[in-house]
Amino acid sequence: MSDLQIAYFPHPALRWKSKDVTRIDAQLKDWVGQMFELMYAARGIGLAANQVALPYRLFVINPSGDPAETELEQVFINPQIIKRNGSEDAEEGCLSLPEIFGPVTRAERITVEAFDLNGEEFAYELGGIHARVVQHESDHLDGVMFTDKVAAEVLTELQPLLDDMTAQMKRQQQDGQIASDKELRAELQRLQAERTDG
Ligand code: ZN
Repeated sequence: MSDLQIAYFPHPALRWKSKDVTRIDAQLKDWVGQMFELMYAARGIGLAANQVALPYRLFVINPSGDPAETELEQVFINPQIIKRNGSEDAEEGCLSLPEIFGPVTRAERITVEAFDLNGEEFAYELGGIHARVVQHESDHLDGVMFTDKVAAEVLTELQPLLDDMTAQMKRQQQDGQIASDKELRAELQRLQAERTDG
């Protein structure tokens, strides 16, 4: 089975609007296990399928970030935020944007519905960091990054870092370390056809 890697900005998977998963199989479960490993290794608390170049609506979280606290691990497949209440500002980061941070306004409390790895539907009312990480990861599934949601003056400050990352990816593509955007998009399209109705 293929090894996943974290996709860094501006990988086209991060701008991909993913489709609902229609099949949960051994490959998908293996990918989810790898996503948890990558998330912990990078000291994150959430990781979306788009961030490992998989065009599926699913993400994993562990709000503690502690691999020992496996009881806090959650997999959200085809999640839908059906209710949002209140508003709260807090600093966010993203494993696809290392060392880039900025304040984002999000709903304070949410209700989210999703399916787990057994295909069972569940619903949660969440607040605090839990609500924030679910909103951040859900955005990834629509190709939205937290930097799309920071204030204009914050984005101006972050822009040189984003430009550096863009230049670095271009160099890696020219060196052949990373496939071209066109090839990366073709692979996303192929994977999408395998497990969605898209
Ligand atoms: Zn992120």
